[in-house]
Amino acid sequence: MMSAKFRTIKGVQDILPPRTCLWQRVEDAAKRIFSLYGFSEIRTPIIEFTELFVRSIGEDTDIVEKEMYTFHDRAGRSITLRPEGTASVVRAFIQNNLYNLPAPQKFYYCGPMFRYERPQKGRYRQFHQIGVEAFSIDDPYLEAELIEMLWLLLEELGMENLNTEVNSIGCPECRPDYKKKLLNYLEGNLGSLCADCKRRYRHNPLRVFDCKFPNCKEIITGAPKITEFLCENCGDHFKRFLSYLKKLDIPYSINPSMVRGLDYYTRTVFEITTTSLGAQNAVAAGGRYDTLVEEFGGPRTPAAGFAIGMERLITLLEEKPFEPPKPDVYIISLGEDATDVAYTIASSLRREGLQAELSYGTGSLKSQLRRADRFNASLALIIGEDELKRGTLTCKRLSDGFQGEIKMTGLVSDIKRYLNHDQDT
Ligand SMILES: [Zn+2]
Ligand SMILES: [Zn+2]
Repeated sequence: MMSAKFRTIKGVQDILPPRTCLWQRVEDAAKRIFSLYGFSEIRTPIIEFTELFVRSIGEDTDIVEKEMYTFHDRAGRSITLRPEGTASVVRAFIQNNLYNLPAPQKFYYCGPMFRYERPQKGRYRQFHQIGVEAFSIDDPYLEAELIEMLWLLLEELGMENLNTEVNSIGCPECRPDYKKKLLNYLEGNLGSLCADCKRRYRHNPLRVFDCKFPNCKEIITGAPKITEFLCENCGDHFKRFLSYLKKLDIPYSINPSMVRGLDYYTRTVFEITTTSLGAQNAVAAGGRYDTLVEEFGGPRTPAAGFAIGMERLITLLEEKPFEPPKPDVYIISLGEDATDVAYTIASSLRREGLQAELSYGTGSLKSQLRRADRFNASLALIIGEDELKRGTLTCKRLSDGFQGEIKMTGLVSDIKRYLNHDQDT
């Protein structure tokens, strides 16, 4: 038995082929669809000063309190591996004066995020998100448009049983009043709250909505609903948002206890969920954040965005059979001279856009044919001494065993006929 000298550190994983095909499929589709809506890619560093995330996500959140991947660098500065994408994009937006670009400014990103959670099934310390952020639009059509774009992507990927859950969590004008109401309610039920909620509810009572403990969940279902306390502007914004969703034919349900566990959201929050893995799971989530740019020192800039959790999406896609790309041609050669010719043929086929794999002349005809099968190649091209003499190749279609001899000159068109199942070769 061989024993590996090195292994991944706890809580992270390798992503291997053929699974990586699925990752590429998602990334390619996302890039294509996002660009239809005018989004350009932004790439920010995966490390930032810790303070950036503490200030944006919120001090008393689970992410900041328990889950950040934080360390001190050699100069003693507190550095954090990004736990999400929005804070970095907003920082870059301000630092690079991107608000001077014509509005709206739209960006998408795609890459690894980090949270120092206790590793468990389906949860990794390095995970991946594709997300978008759009700036400078007040109109609630922006959120509806973001959801439409997400919907289009998920449908293109063949996702089923989707729903959109939406809510409004108000603005700095109406939320404080609601918080007071909620605080009163929670104080009356203090005995049943979990230790975290007991400690945190005073500073931010909304946090109790995100608690996973059954007791807290039960208490929160009886809590006053934020949508009943929205100010006129927020109420109007929410109403118009819902009417846009209807117009765009996007099914949704209002979930008054969804507040999203981050500090920076204002007004609209949403989640796309699916029941495809049994229980209801969020595939993507996002919302509006109209005050964050200003809080970070930029000009007053309304904004909204969302992020897709890649790992969960890939798990959902794996439910359906998928075919990884396979070689069009596997070239089998017997003897040194034949192998030299095989190299030339492989090169010319690849230049013609055909995927060609080689045996490099190793092994018997039988073992090379077996390898062609294992690669799941469409055709095997066989070059032996006889073929060399005649200036031909034996071409065998592996799906049905159909076989014939083709000339080395004009090879490519013959091969394409075999691949297309034209029997008149
Ligand atoms: Zn409001
Ligand atoms: Zn709790």
